[in-house]
Amino acid sequence: MFTSVAGRSVIVTGGTKGIGKGIAKVFAGAGARVLIVGRDAEAASAAADELGVSYLVADVSKAQDCVRIARTAVERHGGVDVLCANAGIFPDKRLTDMTEEDIDNVLGVNVKGTMLCVQACLAPLQASGRGRVILTSSITGPFTGYPGWSHYGASKAAQLGFMRTAAMELAPKGITMNAVLPGNILTESLVEHGEDYLRGMRAAIPLGRLGSVEDIGNACLFLATDEAAYITGHSLVVDGGQILPESQEALGLM
Ligand code: NAP
Repeated sequence: MFTSVAGRSVIVTGGTKGIGKGIAKVFAGAGARVLIVGRDAEAASAAADELGVSYLVADVSKAQDCVRIARTAVERHGGVDVLCANAGIFPDKRLTDMTEEDIDNVLGVNVKGTMLCVQACLAPLQASGRGRVILTSSITGPFTGYPGWSHYGASKAAQLGFMRTAAMELAPKGITMNAVLPGNILTESLVEHGEDYLRGMRAAIPLGRLGSVEDIGNACLFLATDEAAYITGHSLVVDGGQILPESQEALGLM
């Protein structure tokens, strides 16, 4: 049995939808005091009501907003024990059509936004004495590729590069930093890709199903427990075995 995280203050950026909402649900269910963050006030308020958590409208790509996120968690929940830096965007654009603005946008939210949030939360995470940072990266970039997502893949691999050095800088402060790498997780946004896309993805997953948002939430919860205190700078792939097959033939042999 793992030590309870009840009462701990947890920030989930991008907690208003999809995976982040699943992470927030799992932590709230474990008794944590959760602050979810997103840019859309209506979606944030609805998700907060549904989950029984607190919300803040903020944009993680802006430094002053990240400072406001940390300050709000301290004011409302007495500190920051866990930061789930999950907010991310994945617009589909081939390299041939990609503009400088497209690149800035994806790297601005996924990479800069992650770094700014971690930076803004450093003091309360250190004060916690058991501070945890959990990044939502992806298998796309660190392990796999998908046409249309070269900027996205670059951003998800960049998060891991950031993590490996930041984890060293944070270790003396008693803060750990790890990443979860989801495979294909069934979110509202993924459903929008259509049934053909979902069927193709399901067929590529040895465990035979897309992941649930709770699958990712549970992995984050584990990394936040006292029992995970000696794990830092690591990546936890949560993908139903999607990156395992060497070829389509290997998958067909199952
Ligand atoms: P999603 O359903 O589109 O949700 C994204 C969340 O991030 C929303 O709450 C969104 O709220 C928030 N967000 C986006 N930009 C933001 C910004 N600048 N500032 C603050 N909040 C912002 O996406 P998802 O599929 O759950 O993805 C969440 C994370 O998981 C991302 O980092 C993504 O790369 C990663 N991931 C997803 C999958 C998958 O299968 N779904 C697989 C691998 C990795 P607003 O739009 O209101 O701001």
